[in-house]
Amino acid sequence: MGKASRDKRDIYYRKAKEEGWRARSAFKLLQIDEEFNIFEGGVKRVVDLCAAPGSWSQVLSRQLYLPAKSSAESKEGDLPLIVAIDLQPMAPIEGVIQVQGDITNARTAEVVIRHFDGCKADLVVCDGAPDVTGLHDMDEFVQSQLILAGLTIVTHILKEGGKFIAKIFRGKDTSLLYCQLKLFFPTVTFAKPKSSRNSSIEAFAVCENYSPPEGFNPRDLHRLLEKVGSPSGGSDLDCSSGWLEGPNKVYIPFLACGDLTGYDSDRSYPLPKEADGSSYQSLDPIQPPIAPPYKRALELKKASAQSFNS
Ligand code: SAM
Repeated sequence: MGKASRDKRDIYYRKAKEEGWRARSAFKLLQIDEEFNIFEGGVKRVVDLCAAPGSWSQVLSRQLYLPAKSSAESKEGDLPLIVAIDLQPMAPIEGVIQVQGDITNARTAEVVIRHFDGCKADLVVCDGAPDVTGLHDMDEFVQSQLILAGLTIVTHILKEGGKFIAKIFRGKDTSLLYCQLKLFFPTVTFAKPKSSRNSSIEAFAVCENYSPPEGFNPRDLHRLLEKVGSPSGGSDLDCSSGWLEGPNKVYIPFLACGDLTGYDSDRSYPLPKEADGSSYQSLDPIQPPIAPPYKRALELKKASAQSFNS
């Protein structure tokens, strides 16, 4: 699919380039914010897990760091701190500290804590996604492992009352995941931003007001999560095992978000004319990945084509 064709079929891809976002995902976070006001309440320390190529970090920089920087009252030490983590390197973004690392590694939380000088984060976002195989159960399982890695980091670095936003894949274990998140957050909503296609199984868990169980020790997280839905889980965890049973299982608050009269990500839109009446010039992506995992595959393909032609 060429750039112009994709511009027509994917309005958010086109808009992302026009507005200077590195990826169309930026609109997902913006639309979640429209509904949940995630930056309200003096958010100053934020962690962006699985951040590359960086459009969510750009949103964080534009919403939090840049306005504070340009405000006359802000002093250097008062500026918001944004730490972005990904396996992949990412081109720099103003006001964003980058850490190349694996969120499933326990040391990653320590690195973040060091950057925050021992203080805790107000908000953790995680748009992590594995390489999708197309086998839904498998993809959902791998995705849920990433969320659990995100939740592990959350239990070390999020302040009480803080928020956690995480990408999920809807599937047969959605109720279990909901129940697990509810152990730590009294309010959990699964949200589908308008910029996320209906055909995609992705949605976002918006978890508010972090309140770990009394006496909780992050080292016990996995033991605690394993108990959810198990026969003994209900009484031990104050998380009724009945939630996971019956024809309707758990009632999960599910919300479409973003301006519902706005652009529909599943529709094609005609390309606009340029101001001088000439036809639309497709824009280049704002920032292609600097070291994508498929780079080596492309190099091998090129080398094999060259040896075939010589
Ligand atoms: N939010 C990003 C944005 O707006 O540009 C897009 C994130 S992209 C959908 C998913 C990212 O998850 C990829 O960059 C991938 O490298 C990262 N990822 C997957 N597994 C990871 C892991 N274990 N640790 C760190 N990053 C991971």
